[in-house]
Amino acid sequence: MSVAIIGAGMAGITCARKLADHGINPMIFEKSRGLGGRLATRRVDSLRFDHGAQFVTARSDEFRQYLDQHAEPWRPKGAGEWFVGAPAMNALIKPMTEGLDIRLGEKVSPQRASTGWKIGEEHFDHVISTVPVTQARTLFPELTTVLTDVSVAPCWTLMIAFAGPPDWQEMSRFRETGIAWIAKNSSKPERDAEQECWVVHASADWSEAHLEIDKDTAKKHLIDLLHSMRGGMPEITYAAAHRWRYALTTTPLGQPYIRSSDQTLLVGGDWCLGARVEDAWESGLAMASALLKSAPLSFTD
Ligand SMILES: Cc1cc2nc3c(=O)[nH]c(=O)nc-3n(C[C@H](O)[C@H](O)[C@H](O)COP(=O)(O)OP(=O)(O)OC[C@H]3O[C@@H](n4cnc5c(N)ncnc54)[C@H](O)[C@@H]3O)c2cc1C
Repeated sequence: MSVAIIGAGMAGITCARKLADHGINPMIFEKSRGLGGRLATRRVDSLRFDHGAQFVTARSDEFRQYLDQHAEPWRPKGAGEWFVGAPAMNALIKPMTEGLDIRLGEKVSPQRASTGWKIGEEHFDHVISTVPVTQARTLFPELTTVLTDVSVAPCWTLMIAFAGPPDWQEMSRFRETGIAWIAKNSSKPERDAEQECWVVHASADWSEAHLEIDKDTAKKHLIDLLHSMRGGMPEITYAAAHRWRYALTTTPLGQPYIRSSDQTLLVGGDWCLGARVEDAWESGLAMASALLKSAPLSFTD
């Protein structure tokens, strides 16, 4: 059985690992040059910023056990049972990648073949997609109707470093302001605690309202917002903004994946179940189980 997986984030890699452990070696296509998807860390000289997912929590015992083995606790004041990848967020998936066939830097668009699928010149019996829902709608127009109700909010992120420590808590969350989250990235385990690297997330409303501004304008706006909320700050030694167009699910699909009526296409990702890394993990596992058991869960049933 030949299987292609699109996306090397938590969903794609979890799915690939489970398939590989059961004797099916999928080919994984990832458009970025690195692993992890939204488990992302920006490196600038000696500075490090986790500009996507900030921390991970576990509802299920199985995911909790995985985190106990492969993640480090991070407990800033006000935190719950929070975990992070160390030294970078994508360390959360790296233990699962051993021996997998991962093609980085390959943005793909699978096409239906007389049987199964084609990606470039290669033929696959099955395609498993883990791309964000908006991209899934584009790649697989046959699913558009089923995916109509799923929605996702964007997030503008500011990565900012200071010459000295600001007088702020290591982590603060806000409601009803332009900024939703401020955290000292370098307070996470296995980061350089001497660095003052901070990550700031704009709220979903602010990000939506400013979605099409350019990165420099976003950076300036977010620094101004920080000033207005937090007062003076030390000298800024580095700042950059990043736009996540598809950051956090606001309305999930409500089931861990969908499967085409001919059973050759499975489409999943965090957006099927929620807005969290654990949702991506569950979706990836569910797709692998479905393929292994040929579970009948079809969107046309
Ligand atoms: C700003 C931000 C903050 C967050 N905070 C948290 C948090 O604190 N806690 C938490 O649990 N979750 C958080 N999340 C959500 C979390 O990051 C996601 O739920 C999870 O990482 C999604 O994993 P995934 O595998 O489903 O998708 P992704 O990580 O998005 O992986 C999909 C992959 O598909 C690739 N891809 C897309 N199109 C193609 C193509 N055509 N060809 C090849 N590859 C393609 C992408 O490059 C990407 O690597 C946050 C997300 C963001 C953006």
